Amino acid sequence: MSMDRRTLLKGLAVAGAGAVAPVEASEKYAEAPDDAVGMLYDATKCIGCQACVTACKTANNMPGNRYNPPEDLSGDTKNIIRLYEEADETSYMKSQCMHCVDPGCCNACMIGAFKKREYGIVTWDPDRCIGCRYCQVACPYNIPKFQWNTGVPLIVKCELCNHIIHDPDTGTLREGALPGCCQACPKEAVIFGKYTDLIEDAKQRIADRPERYWGPDGEPKIFGLTDGGGTQVLYLADLNFEKLGLPTLGDEGTAKQAREIQHGIYRGFIAPVALYGVLGLVMWRNSRAAKKEEG
Ligand code: SF4
Ligand code: SF4
Ligand code: SF4
Repeated sequence: MSMDRRTLLKGLAVAGAGAVAPVEASEKYAEAPDDAVGMLYDATKCIGCQACVTACKTANNMPGNRYNPPEDLSGDTKNIIRLYEEADETSYMKSQCMHCVDPGCCNACMIGAFKKREYGIVTWDPDRCIGCRYCQVACPYNIPKFQWNTGVPLIVKCELCNHIIHDPDTGTLREGALPGCCQACPKEAVIFGKYTDLIEDAKQRIADRPERYWGPDGEPKIFGLTDGGGTQVLYLADLNFEKLGLPTLGDEGTAKQAREIQHGIYRGFIAPVALYGVLGLVMWRNSRAAKKEEG
């Protein structure tokens, strides 16, 4: 099969563009947007009433309630409260999407079904999803769940009740609207707000009662400030976060690490592409020279 020069160069340009484009597109998630919103969960205030679980299910039209509380996130559960109990240590712990500053799910989703959108809220688009489930593998918190038991399975995860708090017509937050869990919590153990306000609130709680909160080496810690590159859902607790189920991730996000690996692969890919390009040109010249000789 013969290949003309134009086809060859066009092919090389497409290969080169394909190698670089996804890496550049995902760089934009390196910092929380200025208008970012999120949640602050303070485990020391939580009484385990599970009102947030019922409210979450109601807000998202999902079956179940707090009288039969789910044990884990699933295809019909976006929010759970677990009880941690060992010797004389007990604590409740809330789990839902962390709305990462630099989300692994968005980085992994090749066709943009996962998106970090206005206010830094991470949403999922059923019309784009092809069901590859790379998002599940890429999430360091094991959050996205797949509906195995339906004919048209969906990926299920907390979207910060975007459909309640965000007006798609104006593109702004609805005045006074709250995510279901924050609306229902009788103890303000989980609150919604501007990301920067939540950070200040958490710092103030620590300043008021430093003995109440856990942190490495006795220094109280806000989980999510930097962990895994930062999360827009922040946590305070009086026990080691790892015991409560949050992973130790370091300050660098898994999405950033994945990008660096991708950069390495693409950088390595450029050399073979250039080599094939040179070889292709040599073949094209040789074949042209051969044709001239024949003619
Ligand atoms: S923000 Fe909405 S979807 Fe997320 S845990 Fe709270 S109630 Fe559930
Ligand atoms: S917690 Fe997981 S699903 Fe949620 S934004 Fe982060 S990576 Fe995505
Ligand atoms: S509603 Fe509030 S107090 Fe009750 S379980 Fe949920 S976070 Fe804890």
